[in-house]
Amino acid sequence: MFKIAVAGTGYVGLVAGVCFAEVGHQVTCVDIDEKKVEIMKSGISPIYETGLEELMKKNYNAGRIEYSTDYQSAYKDADAIFIGVGTPEQPDGSANLSYIATVARQIAESVEKDCLVVVKSTVPVGTNDKVEQFIQDFLVNDVKVEVASNPEFLAQGSAVHDTLHAERIIIGTESKWAEELLMKIYEPFHLPIVSVNRRSAEMIKYASNDFLALKISYMNDIANLCELVGADIQDVAKGMSFDERIGSKFLNAGIGFGGSCFPKDTKALDYIATQHGYDLKTVKAAIDVNKEQKTMLYKKACRRLITFSGLKVAVLGLTFKPGTDDLREAASLENVPLLLERGADIYAYDPVGANNFAKVHPEGKHGLGSITYVSNVEDALKDANVCFIFTEWGEIKAITPDTYKKLMRTPLVYDGRNIYPVDEMQTAGVEYHSIGRKSTTRDVAKESRILELHAVGNE
Ligand code: NAD
Repeated sequence: MFKIAVAGTGYVGLVAGVCFAEVGHQVTCVDIDEKKVEIMKSGISPIYETGLEELMKKNYNAGRIEYSTDYQSAYKDADAIFIGVGTPEQPDGSANLSYIATVARQIAESVEKDCLVVVKSTVPVGTNDKVEQFIQDFLVNDVKVEVASNPEFLAQGSAVHDTLHAERIIIGTESKWAEELLMKIYEPFHLPIVSVNRRSAEMIKYASNDFLALKISYMNDIANLCELVGADIQDVAKGMSFDERIGSKFLNAGIGFGGSCFPKDTKALDYIATQHGYDLKTVKAAIDVNKEQKTMLYKKACRRLITFSGLKVAVLGLTFKPGTDDLREAASLENVPLLLERGADIYAYDPVGANNFAKVHPEGKHGLGSITYVSNVEDALKDANVCFIFTEWGEIKAITPDTYKKLMRTPLVYDGRNIYPVDEMQTAGVEYHSIGRKSTTRDVAKESRILELHAVGNE
């Protein structure tokens, strides 16, 4: 068993630390955020992740994990220090490496014995070479420090499960010593390990994330075309999914990808390519399609309605996906300001994300519009004129088509997650617009009339 320190207790660092403790290592999780550390010390998880709090308590009680702001004590005699601090996007699309640099400096000034520094954060190819050099340049004691890359592939909402049952662990090292140490640390997980060099490991992370982002944007692109030609994207995806070369995952069309990873990692790889004089056309296309997709439903609604002013607009779902309280790059963040600008009175519901959202858009008046947070879907839908669905939480999927008809003043629903079969909404008498499928609307009839008129006009 090893003595492990983890720098950063966000989705990646905290989950990694807890899972290392769970398999028997002695772990200290370090964060600069004193409030966060206090919360964790009291047994509460600062982030919402299924199963995380239980494992935190279990391993804390077993004496295998502690939380601290005192990085010096945590790093000085650690066998390995895992870095899981953020690498957010900068205005030019490049990754901000300042948090990594700060931790590297803190490590250099603290370590008193040989240790392996393992970077879990997503960083541009070649960064870990620089991190190693940087640490060596600032080392205070005469010890050996090497840097390994160990990118993280967990998905928020299922982070603990994804870590304990990862499909593969990627390790990128430049020496046998580093490779063997990292292999031993991961041995108790009994998971497949792919060992490559440091730069390949860094690239595997970007290439994997960007491939998934591309898959989503591709399906969204096809969905938009489906609407125009009268095909149904869900049937199309189903037909595609039987092909093993394509696979069945990430074929759901929707309101675009969000979260802390795909948006920034697509931009970062595009930036890296540009820096090297290469035009990464596919990834650029994924970024462009996603940008358009985020406000697709809002634009549809603008074509349908004369105004939002004075309308009660129900917003169901604020987080970028279900199972997390994370709002980073969520579709709601793009659409809510547009709706407020146009005078909508928004009633927003999210089972866990409302508090975080209220920090950005506090309850009350905003220019012409207003926002109110409600604790159940009924309060959001009651007498609403329009409803937007941005996140497919279980609580939202459980709303029956009849409920929209019964509660709303005018049952007009824009669904960014294709939750309902179109026919069921039709039967319930709901005017329903989704992504890549026909609408149940008067507009359908209107559109076909327009097409007929065109056809007549062309004769
Ligand atoms: P996060 O923003 O949730 O957490 C980062 C934490 O690091 C914060 O708690 C912050 O206070 C702390 N921190 C900053 N400087 C520190 C320092 N000097 N010492 C100790 N702690 C410090 O970040 P995250 O979402 O966990 O992402 C971390 C990295 O992992 C990013 O590079 C991200 O791209 C990558 N990643 C994230 C996910 C994900 O789903 N969130 C998945 C895979 C990879």
